[in-house]
Amino acid sequence: MQITSEALERAIEELSRLPGTGRKSARRMAMYLLKQQPEKVFSLTEALVELKRSVHRCSTCGTVTDQDPCVICSNPKRSGSELCVVEEFQDVYYIEKTNEFRGRYHVLGGVISPMQNVGPDELRIRELIDRVNAPLAEGESVREVILALNPDAEGEATSYYIHKLLKPFDVEVTRIAYGIPMGSELEYIDEATLSRAFASRNLI
Ligand SMILES: [Zn+2]
Repeated sequence: MQITSEALERAIEELSRLPGTGRKSARRMAMYLLKQQPEKVFSLTEALVELKRSVHRCSTCGTVTDQDPCVICSNPKRSGSELCVVEEFQDVYYIEKTNEFRGRYHVLGGVISPMQNVGPDELRIRELIDRVNAPLAEGESVREVILALNPDAEGEATSYYIHKLLKPFDVEVTRIAYGIPMGSELEYIDEATLSRAFASRNLI
């Protein structure tokens, strides 16, 4: 086969690296983009460049943000005495969608996984302990840490590890559990189930 456009092949190559995109759909996307007005394609590429340029991690909670601290950490209406611990920044989005939680978050950046060589030091666990330990600006302190990690073996082990570390502190440790099937990720749980899981969280 002879390739008539190296530029088109390169675009297909790049697009096929996106998750869930095989070469066939990458080719379809590249063809679609090729047929669009140049402004539309430039607007897409600008949005992607901006994504990498402006989006960074909140230095307090670790979620993705355009400003530091993020809108949740800097919102005085959000209670700093409730901290919800999640694995990844996208979990903040899924929990926010339920409108169930009015506290703040702490993103670990993963879970403890000996198989993948991820130990506690690779995660933002030290930062979590520091947050629990430090008095809040409003004179409050963290009263409840809600563990909302995925209910798989690694999420369970990480929850247990954090629970142990938090024992010396005067803080309630709860876990969302009700109705969430074992092994499922927050991403795939419908809003109503996640909402119920939050409302009926248990002390551990
Ligand atoms: Zn934040």
